[in-house]
Amino acid sequence: MIQRILVTGGAGFLGSHLCQRLVEQGHDVLCLDNFFTSQKSNVAHLLDRPNFELIRHDITRPIWLEVDQIYNLACPAAPGHYQHNPIKTIKTSFLGTMHVLGMAKRCGARVLQASTSEVYGDPEVHPQVESYRGAVNPIGPRACYDEGKRAAETLCFDYRRRHQIPVVVVRIFNTYGPRMHPYDGRVVSNFIRQALAGEPLTIYGDGSQTRSFCYVDDLVEGLLRAMQVAEEFPGPVNLGNPEEFTIAQLAQLVIELTGSSSPVERRPAPEDDPVRRRPDISLARKVLSWEPTTPLKEGLRRTIQWFRSIRLEDYRPPTPNF
Ligand code: NAD
Ligand code: UDP
Repeated sequence: MIQRILVTGGAGFLGSHLCQRLVEQGHDVLCLDNFFTSQKSNVAHLLDRPNFELIRHDITRPIWLEVDQIYNLACPAAPGHYQHNPIKTIKTSFLGTMHVLGMAKRCGARVLQASTSEVYGDPEVHPQVESYRGAVNPIGPRACYDEGKRAAETLCFDYRRRHQIPVVVVRIFNTYGPRMHPYDGRVVSNFIRQALAGEPLTIYGDGSQTRSFCYVDDLVEGLLRAMQVAEEFPGPVNLGNPEEFTIAQLAQLVIELTGSSSPVERRPAPEDDPVRRRPDISLARKVLSWEPTTPLKEGLRRTIQWFRSIRLEDYRPPTPNF
């Protein structure tokens, strides 16, 4: 059935892919964004579609819309972006989610809340299962994001318990692909940009820290499936690729796939940088029948191809934190 679907943060990296899938499925898609970390070019190809609408709005302010489903993605996601204005980041997570849930309560809409693996902090449990409660430093430089997302999860569960809002919380692990902001300071975008420019690949710390990288198309499929079950399943559910790589391995892979002769260069490790991260996706397999299918090499090939096709001068430069 055709649904009226709001995607907050819809012009961002994940949001633009999600909007595209929903438009292709024939839904009436409302993309809301304040373009803090994104550009209109991410959704320009959708603008002439009759079932796509772009709304410039800051979700820390209330908005009155009539919708059946809401994907709440609005929030800067890369450390360099969310630390740019940490107070705004935590406000976006909390107030944005509050406004979305209020709208859902009024409209009887379903909600998918984009949470994050960062709610686990620097985890003592590996791989991370949803029942693990995390080790987050509440006063560190990542707290505006981590604690903002944790408070947003709390709000979702309380709205569900008190107002019977069908809301599902998904915890997204590192995701990459075309339309990542080339200057977001995240490891995949940094390494590809650096390799293509023949500059040194900057490894923070000794490169032994791990991450698990999920290709964007796989992730979007997981979001769609989670929304399907929001009535009966609140989550939280991990969405990510369980294949774990060290940052040093990632650097070598990017050098190999770009054919670059860039060296690697060591930089100091950022404060509170998680040492290991890998999702346990048993719950997603069971409840959503979902698992990623794109191997890292293949996803990186597609992402590198996209980076070769863009003009870097069309993107705003890095924030001062990086
Ligand atoms: P992104 O920065 O590309 O997208 C976020 C979008 O939200 C941007 O378009 C930005 O302009 C918009 N936005 C920010 N503040 C806003 C506000 N106050 N009002 C309206 N719009 C606002 O990041 P992304 O990678 O696409 O992340 C999307 C969501 O997924 C975020 O909520 C993020 O926390 C979550 N997530 C992403 C990852 C990942 O690896 N990409 C991992 C975990 C969680
Ligand atoms: N990192 C790195 N070089 C870079 C950017 C990031 O070594 O140019 C490291 C960073 O310290 C972290 C990992 O790569 O250990 C992933 O960082 P990212 O910012 O992509 O995401 P995070 O998972 O930390 O939110």
